[in-house]
Order: sequence, then structure tokens, then C-alpha cells
Amino acid sequence: MSYKFKGGVHPKYMKSPETPVTVITPPPQVVIPMAQHIGAPNKPLVAVGDYVKMGQKIGENPAPVSAPVHASVSGKVVAIEPRPHPLGDMIMSVVIENDGLDTPCEDLAPLSEEELKDPEAILARMREAGIVGMGGAMFPTAFKIKGGIGKVDKLIINGAECEPYLNGDHLTMLNFPEQLLKGIELVRIASGVEKAYYGIEKNKSDAIKLLSSLDPAKYGVEIVPENVKYPQGGEKMQVKAVTNREVKPGGIPSGVGCNVVSTRTAYAIYQACYEGKPCIERIVTVAGSALKAPVNALTRVGTPFGYLAEQCGGFVKTPRKIVLGGPMMGICATSFDAPTIKGTAGVLFFTEEEDRHVDNPTCIRCGKCITVCPMNLEPVFMYMYYSKGDYENMAKYHITDCFECGSCAYNCPARMPLTHAFKTAKLMFQAKAAKEKAAAEAAAAKEAK
Ligand code: SF4
Ligand code: SF4
Repeated sequence: MSYKFKGGVHPKYMKSPETPVTVITPPPQVVIPMAQHIGAPNKPLVAVGDYVKMGQKIGENPAPVSAPVHASVSGKVVAIEPRPHPLGDMIMSVVIENDGLDTPCEDLAPLSEEELKDPEAILARMREAGIVGMGGAMFPTAFKIKGGIGKVDKLIINGAECEPYLNGDHLTMLNFPEQLLKGIELVRIASGVEKAYYGIEKNKSDAIKLLSSLDPAKYGVEIVPENVKYPQGGEKMQVKAVTNREVKPGGIPSGVGCNVVSTRTAYAIYQACYEGKPCIERIVTVAGSALKAPVNALTRVGTPFGYLAEQCGGFVKTPRKIVLGGPMMGICATSFDAPTIKGTAGVLFFTEEEDRHVDNPTCIRCGKCITVCPMNLEPVFMYMYYSKGDYENMAKYHITDCFECGSCAYNCPARMPLTHAFKTAKLMFQAKAAKEKAAAEAAAAKEAK
């Protein structure tokens, strides 16, 4: 049984899991950004002119909250320089000219039978293989799991995939069910818990049936069919659905004894431990009305968006924007040259048909944004105070508890840019906190002199 959360919406799902996975030919050049995780960016381990093998580690950082990156093709390093990053800005990247041979690097051997049962060995492999939250958050998974050991009694695997368009998790369930269950078992062993709960929205009934037929209990997994409602895949909603526990405002799942790991991450852990394969590819849904032939594409990390579009037959209309992830929570990319990274679940090429932007929108005070907020926030007031730059009232209305699900903006008849405003407001709060901290440190240093 699953528990319901308050609020949420039912967007048009626009999914196409019946479209088989297409293997995209890797591009002539891949661009591997040194920042593909939350935490300090990696430092390149290679130099221009070096030959690298597919899967070779090419960047790392010793900081605990980091994850190394690996070459997704074999070939020659032709540049190490700032390149457009999918999340904005120019980020130091290693550019590899693909020799088309996929010569494998064998640095990571599959774990032995004994190691596959050893939490320390599994965690070390997660780290070495560069595993991060592939649902989009890109938090280093080994660090997340280690932090929960002894505190977490419920491990939840997120199989909701509630964002419109995206199909990668669903297709992973259908195409690699046994591998996925083994991956979840590894996460469970590493977490030190008896059982993992796999929350899957009921609109994936074929996947629920298939996974249930494989005796998931053998892997210590219980399948939890969940109600179909956006944002069921939010971590706090998953915790509620599976355990009926509430993550308080400002809190995180481990605060109520839960850890949430995505489907795609569990599968990547399987590949890292059983196959010795680092995190160098993933299923990316490439869709949107600008595109000739949308696909669910098995794509190497570092594939530029423009190349990806070409592989889908190019455009039938001029795209107005490129959205990374789904349309509800995704962010806009600014360059066709930016590449896919570990957290890229979708690349959507939208025309004006899908663009909800209107010039000079005006709030009509209908309150529809409030009724759908799963965090019990009051978006209309948050927006009002954001527009005035009123930090005190933004804080009073808990703007930083917004997790940018987009339900309010989706439900707003006036098409107010609510989510965009709240994203910006959270960045403003971060910048303000950093400035205040720096000022306090400078004052303390001055006083100590
Ligand atoms: S839903 Fe939109 S128009 Fe209605 S109160 Fe909220 S912001 Fe205003
Ligand atoms: S205020 Fe934030 S959490 Fe609430 S519905 Fe809007 S985007 Fe989602």
C-alpha cells in the first residue's frame, strides 16, 4: 500500500515507453565536464595529446563530496578548456576525439562474489565508478549512503518517474529487470538495511508485473505500487508514499530515517559492481515538437545536444528552447554545444507550442497555486515578496522550502513564472548567506589582528 500526499497535479504525461531504446552512435568528439556532481569540480588527470581508453578515469577530486569522471569513448585528448555546461556557465572540460574503437579500460574489474556482499567494497566501487544521483540531483551516492548508515531504517528506490516525457527509468525496468534488482540489492547491502522498498507509479503496470515475477524478495526488495500524481517522484513524496513519514520543512529524508536512491542510479551501481563499468552512458529521452523523430536514446556522457538532435533526424521546426530533464522541473540550456552529463534524463527541444511563457502576466488572485503545492506553501505570496526583493517576508513564507516541482506554475491560469522566480530567490538567499559569512569572517580576522 502507498500513502497519498497533499497537492500535486496531473499533467499530460506525453511518455513513449513503447519506443524502443536506440543506441546513439557516439559523436566524433565528446566533451566531458569536470563538474558532474554536487561538490568541488574535478581536476583533469590527463593532458592534451594523451590517448585515453573508454572508461578511463580522466578527472577527480579528493574531497568526500565529489565523484570522478571517465572517458566515454577511446581516443585522443584534443583540448582541456572551459566549454558550455548544460547547467549554465563555462566549465573546465576534457574534449576527446573519438577514434571509434571503444578500446576499453580495464582498471575496474567486476567485484568478486565476496566483495559483492561487502558494504565497504560496494561503497568504494560506487565512488571509484563516479556514481551520482542520476535522477538529476547528482549528489555522490557513496557519500549519501555512508551518511545514512545507522540512521536510516528505510531504503527507498524511486521508480515514480512522474515527469512528463521521460522514459529512461521505465525502460530500464523493462529491459534490465534482473540487473536492476541486483543493483538495488547492492544499495541495500551498502546501506546496512534488511529491505529496500521500490516505489513505482501504477502507470508502469507492465514493469511492476515483470519485476514482481522475478521474486524481488530474493533480493530483499518489496515493490510498492504508487498513485499516479505529479510530483510523486519528489524525495519527500516518496518518503510519504512508502512510509507515511513526513519530512519537515527544511529537513531531508535521512532526518526521518529514510534514504532515497533513483532507479537509474541503482542500475549504474549494478554495472559498476558486476561489470566493472563506470558511469559513462545512460538512457536519455530526446523529444519535443521541434524534433523530427523523438527517441529514447542510449547516449554516451559528453554527447553535444546539437549532435543528439541530428541523430534524431534533425528539426522539423525551429526550437525555441532546450529543456534538460522534464518540462516541470527541467532547466533551460543555452547552447547546442553543451553536452549530456550523468544527470541528463531528457533533452527536450520545444517550439512555441510547448512554451507557456506570456509577456507581462498578471496574478488574478485565484489561489490555484496554493491548492496544488505539495509543500503547503503559498506561492502567490512568495512571488509577491520575491518581486519586491523583500527577503524578510520571503523567509516568512518559507520560500527556501520550495523544491521547484513546478506544480504551482503548471496550475496557474495567468501563467505567472512562479517556479523560475523561486529558483532565482533560492539562489539569492544562497548568495546573501555567502556574503554575510564572508563579511563575518573578515570582521573576525580584523578583530584578531
Ligand atoms: S495561481 Fe497564478 S493567478 Fe492564481 S493566485 Fe496563484 S499566482 Fe495568482
Ligand atoms: S511553491 Fe515550490 S514546491 Fe510549491 S508547488 Fe510551487 S514549485 Fe512546487
